[in-house]
Amino acid sequence: MAPFVHDFEDGNREAKDLLGGKGANLAEMTNLGIPVPPGFTIDTESCRAYLAAGTMPKGLAAEVAEHVTTLEGKTGRTLGAAADPLLVSVRSGAKFSMPGMMETVLNVGLNDASVEGLAAQTGNPRFAWDSYRRLLQMYGKTVLGLDGEHFEDAMDAIKSGKGVTGDLDLDTDDLRALVTAYKGIIRDGSGADFPQDPTAQLLGAVEAVFNSWNSDRAVLYRRRERIPADLGTAVNVQAMAFGNRGLDSGSGVAFTRDPATGARGVYGDYLQNAQGEDVVAGIRNTMTLEDLQRIDQASYDELVAIMDRLEKHYKDMCDIEFTVEDGKLFMLQTRVGKRTAEAAFRIATDLLDEGLIDEDEALQRVTGDQLAQLMFPHFDHTGARALLAKGMSASPGAAVGIAVFDSDTAVAKAADGIPVILVRRETNPDDLHGMVAAQGILTSRGGKTSHAAVVARGMGRTCVCGAEALDVDTKAKRFTTPTGLVITEGETISIDGSTGEIFAGEVAVKPSPVVQYFEGSIAAENGDPIVKSVHRLMAIADSRRRLRVRANADNAEDASRARRFGAEGIGLCRTEHMFLGDRRELVERLILAEGAEERQAVFDELLPLQREDFIEIFRSMDGLPVTIRLLDPPLHEFLPDLTELSVKVAVAEVTGHAIDKDTKLLAAVHRLHEQNPMLGLRGVRLGIAIPGLFEMQSQAILEAAAIVTEQGGHAFPEIMVPLVGAVEELRNIREEISEAAHEARVKHSVHLDHLVGTMIELPRAALTAGDIAEAADFFSFGTNDLTQTTWGFSRDDVESSFFSRYMEAGILGVSPFETIDRVGVGRLVRIGTDEGRRTKPGLKVGVCGEHGGDPESVHFFEERKLDYVSCSPFRVPVARLEAGRAVSGGGSDTR
Ligand code: ADP
Ligand code: MG
Ligand code: MG
Repeated sequence: MAPFVHDFEDGNREAKDLLGGKGANLAEMTNLGIPVPPGFTIDTESCRAYLAAGTMPKGLAAEVAEHVTTLEGKTGRTLGAAADPLLVSVRSGAKFSMPGMMETVLNVGLNDASVEGLAAQTGNPRFAWDSYRRLLQMYGKTVLGLDGEHFEDAMDAIKSGKGVTGDLDLDTDDLRALVTAYKGIIRDGSGADFPQDPTAQLLGAVEAVFNSWNSDRAVLYRRRERIPADLGTAVNVQAMAFGNRGLDSGSGVAFTRDPATGARGVYGDYLQNAQGEDVVAGIRNTMTLEDLQRIDQASYDELVAIMDRLEKHYKDMCDIEFTVEDGKLFMLQTRVGKRTAEAAFRIATDLLDEGLIDEDEALQRVTGDQLAQLMFPHFDHTGARALLAKGMSASPGAAVGIAVFDSDTAVAKAADGIPVILVRRETNPDDLHGMVAAQGILTSRGGKTSHAAVVARGMGRTCVCGAEALDVDTKAKRFTTPTGLVITEGETISIDGSTGEIFAGEVAVKPSPVVQYFEGSIAAENGDPIVKSVHRLMAIADSRRRLRVRANADNAEDASRARRFGAEGIGLCRTEHMFLGDRRELVERLILAEGAEERQAVFDELLPLQREDFIEIFRSMDGLPVTIRLLDPPLHEFLPDLTELSVKVAVAEVTGHAIDKDTKLLAAVHRLHEQNPMLGLRGVRLGIAIPGLFEMQSQAILEAAAIVTEQGGHAFPEIMVPLVGAVEELRNIREEISEAAHEARVKHSVHLDHLVGTMIELPRAALTAGDIAEAADFFSFGTNDLTQTTWGFSRDDVESSFFSRYMEAGILGVSPFETIDRVGVGRLVRIGTDEGRRTKPGLKVGVCGEHGGDPESVHFFEERKLDYVSCSPFRVPVARLEAGRAVSGGGSDTR
C-alpha cells in the first residue's frame, strides 16, 4: 500500500493533489534549502479514507509515529519530553487554498510536565505558559468543539481583574492562572481532562483537521469557489518555530508585490512577540516590514532575499508566512498569492518586462472576469462612509441613487433624470423596465442566481442581492437596517456590487480608466499603469486569437461603442424595438388588416421607417458585416394588455360608447393569446403566417445597404431568420427575401452582396443542420433559446423559482444561461456545426447568445472552431481577451 505520510523532503510543488497546496509548497521550499521547520504531511488520501469510513485508516497512527521519530531525530527533541520537548503544529491544507476555512492547532506536545521543561530550557517561563494556554484554547475549540467565547471570557476576566487590556500585559502568573481556568473549561465542557499524552493530542488534532473539511464554513466556501467537495484536506505536522519568545521574536505575513495594486516591492505585516494567528486576528496593531528592518536588519535582509528567490522560482507573486524566533528566520508557508483584478494585469505585464514569463504566459495570468471588473466604475475608498448592511456581490459596479421600491417609480424618476436604486425583496420579469431605468438594484432575498442578479449581470447593471439583514417593506416604501435605521423612498443610498456593501448617502464614484481607454478618451501611452497593462495584454490576445468577436447591437449608438471596443461586426441586430413606440399603432393596423391590400398599405408605411434605422447602423459599422434578425417575438407583445383592454371595452359597452376599433382589437388580442408564447407564433412562423412581413423587412435592409453603398460606404448585410426548425421554413422565407433583393436591385443600381442565414436555436434545427445548411449561407447559434428549448427551461420562470435550490443541491454548478452547458447544449452546437459544414464546407458559424461574452463558453466555442462570437458591447473586450487566451493557453481552464 502507498504510504499515507510523507516527509517534507519527499514532496514538491506539483504534488498538490496528494499533499495539498500548503504541504506541496512546504516541500518545495524545503528542497530549495530555504529555512523551513522540519515536518511531514499526512496526505489527502488518508483524509478521504477517514471521511468515508468515519474512523482513522488502519496503519495511519503507526506511520505517524514513525515520522514523529524521524522528526525527533532531526530536531534533537522528543515529543512530550519533560525536559526540552518537541512541539509541533498540526495544520490543514487542501489542494486549493481555503484561507481560514479549516483548522490548525499549534504547540501540540505541551502538558503539565513539559511546560515546566520548556520554561527551564528557554529560561523564559512566560513564553512557556503562553504557549500552553494557546494549545489549551485551540485544542478546546477545534478538537473538542467547545465554544471559543468561554476561553475569551476567561482571558478578559483576568485582564479586567488586573486592569489591563493587552495580551502582552499578562505575566507568567497570569498565564498560569489562565491555564488553570482553561483546563476547567475543558473539563466542564467535554467531561474529560485535557489529554496529557502528546500522541493522543496529536492524533486528536489530526482528526479534527480532517473533520474541518466538512465544517459549515468550509462547505460554503467550496460551493462559492466551485471547489469539488470530495478532495479532502492534507494535514501538515511541523516542528514549531516560536514567535512568542520575546521581543526578538515575532510573526508575520508578506507578499512579494502589492496584492491590491500589483506595484513592485515587498509588502507585509509583522507582530513582535506573537504566534501566527495573532497577526491576522487583529489583537494588536501590526508593524510594517520597514519596522522589521529597523528592529532586525539581518532577519529582514534574509526575508527579502528569500522572497526574491521565491518569486523567481514560482515566476509569480507569492504570499508567505514567516516567524522569527530569537533572531532566527523561519518560513512557514508560501503560495502564489491571490490578487485583485488590477494587480493581476499589472503583475502579468511587469513579470513579462522582467523576463520571468513570456507573452503567452502573461495572457494566462489574467482572466476575462478580471477585465470585466476593471470596466465597472469604482467607489472612491478614501472618504468616510456609513455602512448600512452587506449583501451578496451579484453584479459589480458602484451605483448611487435615491431608493425607490417599485419599478414604475424607478422609470418615472429616471425619466426626470434622477438616478435611482431599485430596492425590492426580489425582482421578477415584471420589474425589467425598472431594472433598466435604475442605476443599481438591491434585493433582500435571493442569491447570485436570483432573477435580479442574473438580469443585472446581463445588462451590466450594478446589483447587490440577498441583503437579508434589511427588512424591505415595498408597500410602505421603506427598508429598515439591523440597527433600526429606516430609509424611505427618495433617500440617497450607494451600493457596491463588487463587495455587496450598502451605504447611506452618496459615496463618490470614479469612472473606470479602462473603459475610458477602450472608448478612446485616454490614450494607452498616457494612461496609468493599469491602462498600459490592459492595452498590452489586449494586443497580445488579439494577435493570438482565431475567433472573430462581434457585438449584439440594435442601434447606431451601441454599434459605435461596440466598434470602439473592438467589435468586428454586428452578430445580432434585433428589430423588435423598431415596431414599438409610435410605430405600435402600425402593428395594430397590421393585425387588424383584412386582406393583402390593407396589409401592404401598412408595410408601405413601415418600410421607410425601418430603412432609416438600418442606414444608421450600416453607417456606424461601415466596412464590417451586420447580421440583422427578422422580427422574432410573438405579436401580442406589441398589443395592449388583455385585461386592461377587456375592462376598457366592457366599460364602454355598459355606457354605450363602445368603439369599433377597440372591440376588434380585443378580438385580435384574444385570438393571438397563447398559453406559451415562447413556443408559439413567433420567429419564422410569424413570417410565414403574415406574408409580406419579412419581405418588407428584407427590402428595408437591402435598400438601406444600397443607399449607404451609393454614398460611398461599405455595407455587408446578413439577413438572419429566427426560430427555424425545418429547412422548408427557411426555403419559404428565402423566396420572399429574393423578391426583396430583386426590388432593391430595381430601385438602386449598385452592386450589393448579402447573405441569408438562420439562427440555430431549436434542438431540431441543430439535429437537421445538414439539411438546413443547404438553404443557409450562415448559422448563428442562439444559445439563449437553445438552452431554454434543450432543457425545457423557461428562463424567467426557472431562474427566479427553483434555480437557487438546484445550485444548493449541486444539481447545477453554474446556471446554463451563464455558461454554456457543454454536455447537452454544447453537444447540439457540435452536431449543428459539424453537420452544417459537412453539407457546406466553410459555412460561416457564429454564436449570438449571452454565452458569446462568457469566458468559459468562449473557450468552448474556440474548441468547436466557430467563426465568431457575438456579445453585448461591454463584453466585447472580455471576449477578445478570452478568445486569445483560449488559443495561447491551449486548455479550457479559465480559473
Ligand atoms: P491557515 O491556513 O489558516 O493560515 P496555518 O496552518 O497556516 O493556517 O496556520 C495558522 C497560523 O499558525 C499561521 O500564522 C502559521 O504561520 C502559524 N503556524 C503554523 N505552523 C507553525 C509552526 N510550525 N511554527 C510557528 N507558527 C506556525
Ligand atoms: Mg496559513
Ligand atoms: Mg431566440
